[in-house]
Amino acid sequence: MSAGLGLSLIDRAVKESFASRCTKDDLERIRQYFLSKGAFRCLYCGSENPTRWDHLHAVSRGGDTVPGNLVPACQRCDDSKQDKDVNEWAKGNAKHRPPLEALARIEAEIRAYQSHFSHEPKEFEAKLSAGDLAKYKRFRQEIEVLREHLKTEGLLK
Ligand SMILES: [Zn+2]
Repeated sequence: MSAGLGLSLIDRAVKESFASRCTKDDLERIRQYFLSKGAFRCLYCGSENPTRWDHLHAVSRGGDTVPGNLVPACQRCDDSKQDKDVNEWAKGNAKHRPPLEALARIEAEIRAYQSHFSHEPKEFEAKLSAGDLAKYKRFRQEIEVLREHLKTEGLLK
């Protein structure tokens, strides 16, 4: 692992510690929602073997682990999407991205799902209280100091 990747993983872990998390019952409510829409499948490609919960809005961007932000996905789609929103992913060049023709269908399903759970995605900093935002910013400064230090030592490309 590169030092740069390590720094971004620390950032993600700290962001995740500020995120809301759901219970097993919430996951069951999400499963029931998708079952009521027909079947429990990968939201993106329709695979009948969704083994992952994808965050529509990635944790690294402030996404919460809650109903309205978690959708069933297969491993292939989840790995391909990474931390992108679905629109960016479909319009990008990742291998295994959904075809553009499928984008309207996927976005409509996402809107219906978010509205069912009254979920409105927010950017990371926008959802923090003033105290938590100050805490996060202090942490970011420390990361930047560490980044500079690694650069000075030639350990960060
Ligand atoms: Zn899939």
